[in-house]
Amino acid sequence: MELTANARIVLESRYLRRDEQGRLIETPEQMLERVALATAEAELYWGEAKDVQQMASLFFDLMNEKLFLPNSPTLMNAGTPLSQLSACFVLPVEDDMAAIFHTLELAALIQQSGGGTGFNFSHLRPEGSYVSSTGGTASGPVAFMKIFNAATEGIKQGGKRRGANMGILNINHPDILTFIDAKRDAHQLNNFNISVGIRNDFFKALETGKNYTLHFSSVHGKTIEREIPAADLWHKLIHAAWATGDPGLIFLDTIQQFNPTPGIGTIEATNPCGEVPLLPYESCNLGSINLSRMLQKSGNQDWQVDWEKLRRTVHLAVRFLDNVIEMNRYLHPELKRMATGNRKIGLGVMGWAEMLIRMGIPYDSQEALQFGSQLMQFIQHEAQIASALLAAQRGSFPFIIQSQFSGQQRRNATLTSIAPTGTISLIAGTSSSIEPLFAIAYKREHVLNNQTLFEINPAALEILSRQQHFSEQMLDEIILKGSVQHIRQLPESVKRLLKTSLEIDYTYHIAHQVSFQRYTDNAVSKTINMPASATVADVEKAYRMAWQQGAKGITIFRYGSKPEQVLHAGLKK
Ligand code: ADP
Repeated sequence: MELTANARIVLESRYLRRDEQGRLIETPEQMLERVALATAEAELYWGEAKDVQQMASLFFDLMNEKLFLPNSPTLMNAGTPLSQLSACFVLPVEDDMAAIFHTLELAALIQQSGGGTGFNFSHLRPEGSYVSSTGGTASGPVAFMKIFNAATEGIKQGGKRRGANMGILNINHPDILTFIDAKRDAHQLNNFNISVGIRNDFFKALETGKNYTLHFSSVHGKTIEREIPAADLWHKLIHAAWATGDPGLIFLDTIQQFNPTPGIGTIEATNPCGEVPLLPYESCNLGSINLSRMLQKSGNQDWQVDWEKLRRTVHLAVRFLDNVIEMNRYLHPELKRMATGNRKIGLGVMGWAEMLIRMGIPYDSQEALQFGSQLMQFIQHEAQIASALLAAQRGSFPFIIQSQFSGQQRRNATLTSIAPTGTISLIAGTSSSIEPLFAIAYKREHVLNNQTLFEINPAALEILSRQQHFSEQMLDEIILKGSVQHIRQLPESVKRLLKTSLEIDYTYHIAHQVSFQRYTDNAVSKTINMPASATVADVEKAYRMAWQQGAKGITIFRYGSKPEQVLHAGLKK
């Protein structure tokens, strides 16, 4: 497997298997063989032993050529006794002490295996309300979130990943103000992304300048209601997001509108990075196609999309991910029932920025947005064909009768999802997800082993090295700042093409999210980067834009607003 130095470090520190003494017992190629064979084994259920070998070889090539990689837990755990292969889970949080701690136990096991967990805490009674069994008062959702956070903190020490949570509270919960400010103290809820679950009725109240009703009815029939001017609530929320990046928003009505199986349940939460809205106990297996490898060049022409290669890759990737559901070991019977009932998969992309750079299309252009939609439409369409073909052979997903696909043939309730690809893009050596380059060159602090890795994007380097005035000295200047915008000798067209996250207007970040969302069954994880100078009004505009344009959620990141920043542009902080 061709790997960058950084990819090798990441694989060795977390992915490759070790013996009890901590010595490495596999190479990157052996890791791929392990994953390919374990996922191909599912073929046995419908075919013959020779099909397993044949498919294993196709899966191996798919990953070895870095055309596609599955999410981290599959790389880490396939073919091992643990065999927990999914990255994303949502678990229920009910207003009952035993149920809460049952969920916490399951969350701990999931995190230990490398999976991320999302929860909606809105069913918990507000702080100060009556507890009949003890005669005391309830501590409220945020207090319970702190307990979940502490559990993740403990698991961090022994697990392969840091552990990640999404905590959601709906906008009409009486504790919403405490929740909104819960991350103002940077040490608090440090293992959580938090988001407010927005319903359309809130925006209506906001638009008409009305009061909004905070409301909670307990199962015992007690109702708590309080009114607050919608504008006050909105302002507090936006201000907290401006100051700290949290909370983000999750648009619950939009999500429910696209819930493929409303007959099975209502979706109230997403996984940690927001790309998969899921029902309680549901999980999802993600995998991403490396777009930077889907280009071809005939003769002296420019780079173009190799649509046939992309089609083949999509079909094989869908089969791979469907096999993962089959070979997965589930940590709880209910997790198995939901995963095998809906068979959700999330095929996404990485290397989008690199693809655009090679094709000479600036990220902040209408052309990029249209092309993004077109590309994702193609992937979704081919994934639908692949899923229908699998259904013909293997049967449709069992819950299909209660779904929007009732009467059709389809193997999976969802097919596409745009994940952040934080680690797998590093392994593939390309830009992450649909994000622009964070910097032309940057250093990355590795939390687990305290190493600092230095990276320069290969597509950017290729363009720069073709420039007339390119020199070692110019490269040093670029490395120092992580940007090319201050380099006088470079033509404007090159500077435009090599704009980085913070040099791209946030409206283009949102527009990309929305362009890809149009053809994504699940959701799109996208960081809306803003410069440190962005104002509260900018944040408010961004949040409204995302809702109006059909995003399923939004997360902003204002440069410097978080103390624990993993990426730093250039060499200077
Ligand atoms: P990767 O590149 O490692 O496969 P992504 O960055 O694409 O992962 O994240 C995909 C999903 O995996 C996230 O939305 C989250 O559900 C889960 N995840 C990511 N990082 C962690 C982590 N440190 N601990 C637990 N789950 C994680």
